[in-house]
Amino acid sequence: METKTLVETKIVAELQIGFRQRYGTQARMYRAPGRVNLIGEHTDYNDGFVMPVAIELSVWVAIAPRDDRKLVVYSENFSERAEIELDEMDSRPRRHWSDYVQGVAFMLQKAGYALRGANMLIRGEVPIGSGLSSSAAIEVATGFALLENSGLPVDRVELAKLCRRAENEVVGARVGIMDQFVSCCGQTGQALMLDCRSLDYRLRPIPPDVRLGICNTMVKHDVASGKYNTRQAECEEGVRGLFPRLPHVRALRDVRIEELDRYGSDLPQTIYKRCRHVVTENARVRYATTALEKADLATLGRLMAESHLSLKNDYEVSCPELDLMVELAGQVEGVYGARMTGGGFGGSTVNLVDKRSVADFRRSVANAYEKTTGLSPQILTSAAAGGAGEARA
Ligand code: ADP
Ligand code: MG
Repeated sequence: METKTLVETKIVAELQIGFRQRYGTQARMYRAPGRVNLIGEHTDYNDGFVMPVAIELSVWVAIAPRDDRKLVVYSENFSERAEIELDEMDSRPRRHWSDYVQGVAFMLQKAGYALRGANMLIRGEVPIGSGLSSSAAIEVATGFALLENSGLPVDRVELAKLCRRAENEVVGARVGIMDQFVSCCGQTGQALMLDCRSLDYRLRPIPPDVRLGICNTMVKHDVASGKYNTRQAECEEGVRGLFPRLPHVRALRDVRIEELDRYGSDLPQTIYKRCRHVVTENARVRYATTALEKADLATLGRLMAESHLSLKNDYEVSCPELDLMVELAGQVEGVYGARMTGGGFGGSTVNLVDKRSVADFRRSVANAYEKTTGLSPQILTSAAAGGAGEARA
């Protein structure tokens, strides 16, 4: 099997050739990874805690300066070219992939970074729309490349914040900061524990014998985006409902389990269940941090199982395909934990798999899933990868 370094060398060499053919010059290369979240689901927009890991698939940006004020961008994935005028930019989306590039350039300039014109070539290895955050990867890779192309310093936390704003305010997606943050600040072999309110974070090693298994159910039910917004509104209703008893509460992150036990009966049953998921999930991320610090994979796996059940029963964002994928993974020896990840109603599961069991895991989960659903799932495995940066041949 090719090592990661060999794969990277190959990509850099191919992009260099592609860039020269297209633009006639040498380029510098930048990459930013996609991510998977180990635990802490639907907590980010409640100012809570998450535990994402950067994965070994990235979006790559080859870049070289231009003498005019244009960004000329070509995406290999879409086989399409786009042009952006640096001096005539606004925050209106065109509902096109180039919105992600334009949004980042817009936010960087608005924050005072004077960008140079550039030729860019983009190649994404992160599957698009599979819940592994190709969107954050393209934003962060673009931001990194545009800054260095302009001779400007990169502050990773600042870049994550500006990329998120690009997605919120230009693309128009109400996402939290998790994806951009781990794409900027992830480190090889480490999971990142992030406080989504203060942005304080800690990196903790994933035991070297463990791989991340990512199983795409290949379904995305239509209700997904509407329900995502409904859940946000339900959490806000929970905060308003608890406020008379708990006036210090600004977000569900401020509610303790004992407080919810005590005052939750004032809330409508559905709202109470949504709150219970968020409050217990935040606690699980904290326990998971301790478990990871002790390399206690059994406990981490148990917390992932509890997280899945809570998402299924209290938050009601799972679906039969996700439940099946989790159940099948649990039957494989060497799987420590499995749960749905991302918004829900389809998409992917995340699994912690002993590296000796990876082949067995892929084979048995894929076979059994296909037998029951008739769908052939995409199963990826990855180690914890490093955050964005320049890649050299
Ligand atoms: P996810 O982040 O789960 O992959 P999103 O819908 O949030 O899915 O983001 C996917 C969008 O990001 C794509 O539709 C496209 O607009 C943009 N994108 C991602 N990767 C690329 C790429 N390699 N080239 C151009 N646009 C990309
Ligand atoms: Mg996305």
